[in-house]
Amino acid sequence: MNNRFFNTLFFLLSLSALSFLGLKSQFVVDSNPHFFKPGLTEHQVLGLKYFSFVSNTRAKSFKKFYIQAALHGNEKLTTEFVYWLAQSLNNGSSTLLGLNLETSGIQIDLVPIANPNGYKKGSRYNSNHVNLNRNFPVFWGLTQENPGLYSLSEPETQAIAKIFAKSSYTAAIDIHGFTNMIVTPSHYKNSSTYEKWLKAVEKTTKKHLSVYAVKNGKDLGDGGAFEDWAFWQKGTPALCLEMIKSSRFISNSAIGEPKEIIDTFKIYENYIRAIFSEADLLNSAPMNTSLADDSHPSQNISPGTLFMSQGNSLEKDSTQQLSLKQQIFKVPSKDTIH
Ligand SMILES: [Zn+2]
Repeated sequence: MNNRFFNTLFFLLSLSALSFLGLKSQFVVDSNPHFFKPGLTEHQVLGLKYFSFVSNTRAKSFKKFYIQAALHGNEKLTTEFVYWLAQSLNNGSSTLLGLNLETSGIQIDLVPIANPNGYKKGSRYNSNHVNLNRNFPVFWGLTQENPGLYSLSEPETQAIAKIFAKSSYTAAIDIHGFTNMIVTPSHYKNSSTYEKWLKAVEKTTKKHLSVYAVKNGKDLGDGGAFEDWAFWQKGTPALCLEMIKSSRFISNSAIGEPKEIIDTFKIYENYIRAIFSEADLLNSAPMNTSLADDSHPSQNISPGTLFMSQGNSLEKDSTQQLSLKQQIFKVPSKDTIH
């Protein structure tokens, strides 16, 4: 008997054992309803995979939170972080479990790879060369990168919108890399809830991520971002968290202690916990941030209009617009990280 025979036999036995245990379709199964066990289940919406963690499967009420990574497929550490979070939640070690909320359970939906095709190729863009973090409706078209033919034109952003249609989230975080920046929703209209959210994010960032700057998509020239859509259209306090470096462990020599190595995952986990708590406080007051009309002209700015205002004379011919778009999209701005 050769090794190959044993390898094949072992593989077949493993497969049948897995299917016997029912582990093929679900990541982890809470098999015993008599215990208050946390559970992590796997779901798919329009082909986009996400995990749903539930702190107490028998809870009567839930606060729901949303975390996504790798909307830019080349920012792979964000995916590693979200898998780590899912694992920490499931094995009971996550500090997110200590969220002090007036509810008997929490649900955290985690999208580890929001741009699967980009992730496979190590690309910032999806298969249509669209920057998915410019494809959302609010301030759509305000960008030098390809925002797609219209807002929510891409299967990935449509899948995210579908996940949001299923749940009302207390807070949502979109994780990116790599710079020291938190990107809040942009100012779209006057709203006291918006002002409160900005203050809460600024306060929390100063406390937990003191070297970070707080910016917003509109000021960066990055319209159509996830957090703008989540806040202004879905009424969900949201932000974009940039991981500072593309490596998980960093030395804190910058602050005078060269021997200490920091686990950035734990720092971001604590930050997320603080942000979720702030969002929960905000949500206890009624929100009135939804847009009355999804197709409001000041919300979707056509790229052509913007390019004209930058001094490019453009006919209203769509092919001409597209070729100009393609020309401009070749060179993304250096500042366009988010
Ligand atoms: Zn990014």
